[in-house]
Amino acid sequence: MGSKVKTLCELKKDCLKENLQEYKKLVRDARFVCKKCGRAAKDAERLCKPAPLGS
Ligand SMILES: [Zn+2]
Repeated sequence: MGSKVKTLCELKKDCLKENLQEYKKLVRDARFVCKKCGRAAKDAERLCKPAPLGS
């Protein structure tokens, strides 16, 4: 795996299995939700259409 940032939205299911531990860390303290895909992540750059959680 390289250092290129990939959005969670782009992750395939197979990729998710391989990176489950990393994925857990990214979603555990989620602060953003993707308006397009409905995924949540800690970092906005991990989502294609990030929107802040809460207000
Ligand atoms: Zn998305």
